[in-house]
Parts: sequence; C-alpha cells; structure tokens
Amino acid sequence: MPRSYVREARKRVGPKKQRIAPIIARLKAAHPDATIALRFRSELELLVSVMLSAQTTDVNVNRVTATLFEKYRRPEDYLAVPVEELERDIYATGFYRQKTKAIRGTMQTLLEQFDGVVPRTVDELVRLPGVARKTANVVAAELGDPQGVVVDTHVRRLSQRLGLTRQEDPVKIERDLMKLVPREDWGVFPHLLIWHGRRVCIARRPLCEDCVLTDLCPSSRV
Ligand code: SF4
Repeated sequence: MPRSYVREARKRVGPKKQRIAPIIARLKAAHPDATIALRFRSELELLVSVMLSAQTTDVNVNRVTATLFEKYRRPEDYLAVPVEELERDIYATGFYRQKTKAIRGTMQTLLEQFDGVVPRTVDELVRLPGVARKTANVVAAELGDPQGVVVDTHVRRLSQRLGLTRQEDPVKIERDLMKLVPREDWGVFPHLLIWHGRRVCIARRPLCEDCVLTDLCPSSRV
C-alpha cells in the first residue's frame, strides 16, 4: 500500500488515543461471548491447558485435556507416571517432548517452591520452567489480575490493521497496547481482538463490509 494512502487513512480515522475507547466498546457489544476458548476447571488445569496450547489450536487442546484432566488432577500426578506415558497422553497437541519436559519441570517447581499452588503474578509464573511471558500473561489474566496484554497472531494482526501499533515484535506491540488500553480492559482486550480476528477481520480476507469498526480503522476497504 503506498505511504501517502496510509497517511491519508490514518488522518481520516484520527489519533489512536481517541479511537481506543469506541473500538473497545463496539467490540464488546459485537462479541459479548469473547472469552478464553480453553476448557479448564481449576488453576492447575488452566496452567496446563495454556502450556499445551503452544503451536496448536484451542480445539485440539480441549480434545486432549478432556481425558487428560481425568487422569492428572494434582501436580504429583504428572510426576508419578513414566515420562513416556505423559508424552503419549499429550502427543496429539504436538511438540510433545518439549511440552512434557516443561510440564514436569513446572510441577516439580510448583511442589518445591509454591506448595503445589499455581502462583498469580507474572513474575512468579515465569519462574516455572517452560512458562514463557505469554503463557504467564494468559494465566494471570484468567486468574483475574492481568499484568500485561497478551499478544498472539490475531492480536498482532488486528493491532496493526487498526493502527494501534507500528511494531512487528510482540514484546514491543504489548508495550504499545499497555500504554493505550485502559488497565481494566487488559484481560478482555486480547479476547476481543482474537474473536474479531476469527469472525470478521480474517487474515486473508477481512470482511470489512460486516465490521463494526470501519470508520475507526485505517485499513478498512469500505
Ligand atoms: S474494517 Fe476491515 S481491516 Fe479494519 S478491523 Fe474491520 S475487518 Fe479488519
């Protein structure tokens, strides 16, 4: 897209600081069901689900955890079976060797340093082996205390299309969004973008004609 066109489009929609409130309000109205798609019944199940969701779909994780969580209920359970058995049980989520190693390391650390209880802060969560900042952010947000804005592929694409960031690197995108999005919306904001990205602002063919953000979006085609 030519630069002059992008400049024009940005001018047309106005500064992002003025657009962010109506963007959030309209997305909340359009996607009242926007929540995490992973299924879990406890903090431990949430943590394991998010760890398993790397490089695969939430649907796939839910399929695996439906039986996994019947068998593994406490941190000790993940350490009580041979490594190969846990690898087999999570095989269908892909990268099963790394994930098994990460889950077992995490369970060990949970028992040794956190009395078997999943911690709530990002700083503590990233001390668990195999728990990266993104995983920690998702878990902390779901536990009611978001300490950042989760940036996945949908959040990245939509933030760029909506002109909320010019960055490519997820860490820098998160920094931009944390400055822009009110803190009370840090938890819900990624879900709103994820659901909007799945239903309307699709990667290859955004359905601008069905979008509630056309007058607020510099990438709108209508
Ligand atoms: S107007 Fe188009 S490009 Fe912008 S958010 Fe909506 S669907 Fe995506």
